[in-house]
Amino acid sequence: MKNIKDYNLDELKEEFINLGEKPFRAEQVFKWIYEANVTSFDDMTNLSLELREKLKNNFTMCIYKIIKKQESSDGTKKYLFDVLDGNAIETVLMDYKHGKSLCISSQIGCKMGCKFCASTGIKFERNLSSGEIVEQVLAVQRDENIKISNVVFMGIGEPLDNYNNVVNAIKILNNQKGLSIGARHISISTSGLVPMIYKLAEENLQSTLSISLHATTNEKRSEMMPVNNRYNIEELMQACKDYIKTTNRRISFEYALAKDNNDNLEDAKRLVNLLRGMNAHVNLIPINKIKDGKFEKSSNESIIKFRDYLNSKGIVATIRRELGTDIDAACGQLRRKNLKE
Ligand code: SAH
Repeated sequence: MKNIKDYNLDELKEEFINLGEKPFRAEQVFKWIYEANVTSFDDMTNLSLELREKLKNNFTMCIYKIIKKQESSDGTKKYLFDVLDGNAIETVLMDYKHGKSLCISSQIGCKMGCKFCASTGIKFERNLSSGEIVEQVLAVQRDENIKISNVVFMGIGEPLDNYNNVVNAIKILNNQKGLSIGARHISISTSGLVPMIYKLAEENLQSTLSISLHATTNEKRSEMMPVNNRYNIEELMQACKDYIKTTNRRISFEYALAKDNNDNLEDAKRLVNLLRGMNAHVNLIPINKIKDGKFEKSSNESIIKFRDYLNSKGIVATIRRELGTDIDAACGQLRRKNLKE
């Protein structure tokens, strides 16, 4: 059966027309799902019993079960969701002054193989559908009785490797008749799938693009991120420049600092050269050491020096607050895949 959350509003209207229903009914259903966040077609009380039956016969609601929920001492919460086929994914809720931010997964597993990331340790199973991506937001809103204001595609998976479903999920999240999460409050983070960056630039989405750069020479970047062997730094930076030109949006560069690896002044100087003249922001992430990983976190002193150097050269750089480390919910720590683990 089809997952009703896989459809954006226009597509849902089409589905309804094909079922012999009026398009405005699709809009009613859309509101029940995304505004009221109901868990059953029976709760959609302004629809006839007959229509509710028809919907039940044609669609599932895709309601996640919470397998596990952990809370960090800093208030960050990590969910392990049963995605209803024996697989499980992680989603992280962060409480910021400016609102509730949800870090969501886009795939079950990841193919990118970044050496410093725990998600690399899990076998790639499959893409999440748009509805499965969006249900992470709905499930957390139901559980906590809150409204999510920011969504970041920084959980498990490479969002641009699941391009169509991610873009459609953004359209659903963004729709004013539903969750109404402003596109500017949605960030996609990519390890650098260059052709998809060009494609994304054409979507006119207004969402934020983050690039996981992490190194300033091809040698070092390839060592950390195998994707660099496919699309090197020069190709990546060209795609970013074109993206900024086409979209008029700033790009955020993520740079995870690993001790004696990519955190010295030479690296900072090369980073300044790479970003010169670009409308960019640098997000410095103290790297989280993963089990059996070779990269160690840089010292606070090196991180601050790195930031200050970038700032002194006119590049806006901030240090990402480490949230949820004690429950393995911080950057690069998400890994749960199946129910048995
Ligand atoms: N696949 C996407 C999104 C997921 S990761 C991407 O690569 O961008 C979100 C961010 O966390 C990325 O910048 C990623 O490189 C970073 N990250 C992964 N492992 C990390 C670790 N151990 N410590 C700090 N950041 C890490």
